[in-house]
Amino acid sequence: MDYKSLSKFTYADIDKEVLINSVLYNNDANELKMNMMADYEPCFYSKAIEDTFIPSKFCPKCHKKYPSEENFCLDCGVALKDIKDVDINQIQLNPKFRIKGNNHYDDFNEILTFENLEKININSFDINAISEKIRRSAIRRLDRTIKKNDILLDDLSVLEKIMLFCKSFVNVEYKSYGPELGYYEFNKIYIDDRQLDVLQITTLIHELTHFLNKEILSHTLCQILDCDKTSQIESIVTFILSYSPLNQLVDEYAAHTVEGRFTLYGFQDYSSFLNIQNSIDIADEEIEMLKTIGNTFAIAIKHILESFINADLLKDIKNQFKSDIMDQPDYKNLALENCTLLNKEGLTRAVRFILYDGFAVAMDNIDTLEQYNINLE
Ligand SMILES: [Zn+2]
Ligand SMILES: [Zn+2]
Repeated sequence: MDYKSLSKFTYADIDKEVLINSVLYNNDANELKMNMMADYEPCFYSKAIEDTFIPSKFCPKCHKKYPSEENFCLDCGVALKDIKDVDINQIQLNPKFRIKGNNHYDDFNEILTFENLEKININSFDINAISEKIRRSAIRRLDRTIKKNDILLDDLSVLEKIMLFCKSFVNVEYKSYGPELGYYEFNKIYIDDRQLDVLQITTLIHELTHFLNKEILSHTLCQILDCDKTSQIESIVTFILSYSPLNQLVDEYAAHTVEGRFTLYGFQDYSSFLNIQNSIDIADEEIEMLKTIGNTFAIAIKHILESFINADLLKDIKNQFKSDIMDQPDYKNLALENCTLLNKEGLTRAVRFILYDGFAVAMDNIDTLEQYNINLE
């Protein structure tokens, strides 16, 4: 990958720069700053006056709650539904994002040809349209799930809301072993449900970003090759994102950046990025370009997440931080943040670099791909 050639396609990420500088330089460093990357007005909760009856029904239209003897919402003219105790943890949506093309590949030898490799440098693709399609399809799935299960969104905890949203993209399973808070592997997020709610929330957002990087690049490869999305295509993209530490760094920086945008300043966690960086010998200039690519990937993903994590939910996440976290914030890592973005041409070139180089290496690693495919089928 020729990173230097990308530098002429960059511009400053002013919003991020201004927010970070306000935390690093303009304030008292010892004071806990209730700021987030995507910040909104501080919140003042006016707690609703407690109802005097025990609601057991709700209006599916306006979501007003009613006692058991009522049958209709007269405001909306619709029949009331019973409030059910829905266990979000038990809901499995098995989400799939289907892509149809004029070719269907389910054999690695048919995909991994020199002819297809050259298409990566020539055929066009539209990352914005791809991420928009993924966003809409997940939101539709979420909407259907809420309606089908009579879920009252307002009654869910912040973690339950984020969990349900996550599940409209990718399956989530629980793990109760190992030191890590969670991880993403082969279209599944594993999360440790013994952790604090706020840590589960930020972990879900981080791992969802890894899934979305894989998903967006899989759709891109399908568009380039004009083919259906198959487990073989997903295996190749999974390989591309993991075979090289440089691509791992892009993937991790995107995940840290998206997670960071929904996290209080001073609680950003860069450990998985730094672990990879410290394991290789790499020039500062190159690291900065990898971060710039990751930062640009993060923009598209942040946009997908913001269709659900709106200002209100962000306030709730903030409050969850206030109630869960006892540690002092640590602002020194904020100085490591990259505040540069690639323009459209730069992003297209970066994606071509990543896919072309990875596809070429994948051609010599069909055994590994077959192993991945067993997990993705
Ligand atoms: Zn109503
Ligand atoms: Zn990660």
